Amino acid sequence: MTKEERYKNVLSYFETNVGLAETELKYNNPFELLVAVILSAQCTDKRVNLTTPKLFKDYPTPVAMASTNSDVIFSYIRSISYPNNKAKHLVGMANMLVNDFNSQVPGNVDELIKLPGVGRKTANVIASVVFNKPTMAVDTHVFRVSNRIGLTTNAKNPLQCEMQLIKFIPEHEVTRAHHWLILHGRYVCLARTPKCNECGIKAYCKYFEKLNAKQIKIKSVKPNVKLISNGKKNKTKNSVKKAGKKSS
Ligand code: SF4
Repeated sequence: MTKEERYKNVLSYFETNVGLAETELKYNNPFELLVAVILSAQCTDKRVNLTTPKLFKDYPTPVAMASTNSDVIFSYIRSISYPNNKAKHLVGMANMLVNDFNSQVPGNVDELIKLPGVGRKTANVIASVVFNKPTMAVDTHVFRVSNRIGLTTNAKNPLQCEMQLIKFIPEHEVTRAHHWLILHGRYVCLARTPKCNECGIKAYCKYFEKLNAKQIKIKSVKPNVKLISNGKKNKTKNSVKKAGKKSS
């Protein structure tokens, strides 16, 4: 299967079987999504969604969040991973939005990554989800799943993975493909134990191809294993006989 065919089949499967796919983070405007994505680094969306309603209620705008300090924000997000750093990032990000961006979330990746706590992945999520740009945010799920399926080859880091994916995925499908790959990694192609047998794209997956080839190989060498074990048994019997002869 060529790479183009693999992409075509995988995307067509997701299109037919998943269709609409969106972020599982809850938000009402670009600022809330930005806060939620910053909080979601190394943390589950579920946990973030439990934390953000009160934070959004009390600090609904960049101006409101910039007017407080990180100790206060920490008290809202203490149950989230890395709360100290994230609290500092949120206050810093809100201040920069107020001072440099007229309290508006920018839509450009190069501007977004200037904000404290915003790396390339977060910037791509905002550009894609809020501003409909064909940017591919590569998180741990996207990175792992793309590599396993064979959508990427020898991608050493998220940037290489991103570049390979956007080369083959049509622009109008990039945003949905990002969510498809995340959801697939979260619920089917799990990091430790991928659920290959119930996976709808196993027919197009390189990892599954290799797994199958391995199993076929193991099956085909099994008879030899039996022969060897019989041989050993015989050898043992012969050795006993020989030993008996010697002692008599
Ligand atoms: S077949 Fe297995 S490894 Fe491949 S995408 Fe599906 S779950 Fe992941």
